[in-house]
Amino acid sequence: MSYAGPEFDPPPARRPHRRLFAVVGGALAVGALAGWLVVEGVGGTGGGGTAAPSAGTPASASPSAAHPSGSPPASDDHDPGRDTTAGAGAASGPLKGKVVVIDPGHNPGNVRHTAAINRQVDIGTGRKECDTTGTTTDDGYAEAQFTLDVAHRLRTLLRAQGATVKLTQDADRPFGPCIDERARIGNEADADAVVSIHADGSGAGNRGFHVILPGEVRAGAADTRAIVGPSRDLGERIAGNFVRVTGSAPSNYVGDGTGLVTREDLGGLNLSTVPKVFIECGNMRDSKDAALLTSGAWRQKAARGISAGIVSFLRG
Ligand code: ZN
Repeated sequence: MSYAGPEFDPPPARRPHRRLFAVVGGALAVGALAGWLVVEGVGGTGGGGTAAPSAGTPASASPSAAHPSGSPPASDDHDPGRDTTAGAGAASGPLKGKVVVIDPGHNPGNVRHTAAINRQVDIGTGRKECDTTGTTTDDGYAEAQFTLDVAHRLRTLLRAQGATVKLTQDADRPFGPCIDERARIGNEADADAVVSIHADGSGAGNRGFHVILPGEVRAGAADTRAIVGPSRDLGERIAGNFVRVTGSAPSNYVGDGTGLVTREDLGGLNLSTVPKVFIECGNMRDSKDAALLTSGAWRQKAARGISAGIVSFLRG
C-alpha cells in the first residue's frame, strides 16, 4: 500500500518512553485515561459528535468545494475549507506573535504525479522520495483529504488564539511539496512550532494515534540536536491533549502504549531547524479507526486536541 513508501517505513522497535505524558500532569493523565475508557465502553463521546462515516466519503470531493466562500462551518461535520476569516495577522490572543506551520501530509494531487513525487531528494542521512501518495480507508477516503481537513480546523482554532498560521500546502499546487521543502517552509517561517498531520495505513486491528518525534541526527544538511528537546516537549503535550480531547487511545502497535515514537528516517523532521512533530491520528486501514477518521465531528476533536497541545507548548 502507499503507506509503505520510503517516508513511512515502519519504524524500528523502540525502547519504552518512561516519560509518557508526564508533562500534562498526573491529574490530566488520569482524566484522559478515564475518558478513553468511557469511549471504549459506550462507543461514543460527548460534544455532539458521533462516528458517522458518511462525513468523509470520497464523494465529498475537495474541501474547498464544500465551502467555496470560505464561510465558517455550520457544524463540526463541515470542513472549514479555506477559511481566511481570521486573517493571517490576527491580532490578539495568547498566541499573538507566535508562528505555527501546519503541514498537511501528502497532497490530493500526488496520485496523478507519481513520477514527480518519486524523484529523490536529500534528507541529510540519505536520499528519499520527494513525497508519497498517502494511504486511504478501505472505502477510499484519502489520507490527503483527511490531513487537509484537520489542518483547516486546526488553523481556525490557532488563529482564534492569535497565532499566525501557515500551511505547507492547501491543495493549491499540483503535487507535493517535497519533504525537504516542507521542512524548509517551517524553517523559513521561523516557526515556533510545526506539526505534520497524517493518518496511518497499518493493518486491521492496529488502532490509535501516535506522535512522531525527531531523533538526534547529524548528517549532511540535517542537524536536529537543537530541536530534539523542544520537539519532545511539543509532542508530549500534543499526545496528552489528543488523548484528553478525542478519547482515542495511544497506538496499540507502536510506541509501547505511550503514543510517542522517535524516528531518524523522516526528512521532514531531519531537516527541520524548528520544533516539529508528526502525528498519525489513527489507522485508516482499521474499520473502527476509519469510522472516527471519516467523522467530521471526530476530526474537529482531533484538531482541538492538537491545538491544545500546541497552545500548551507555546505558552510554556
Ligand atoms: Zn501520511
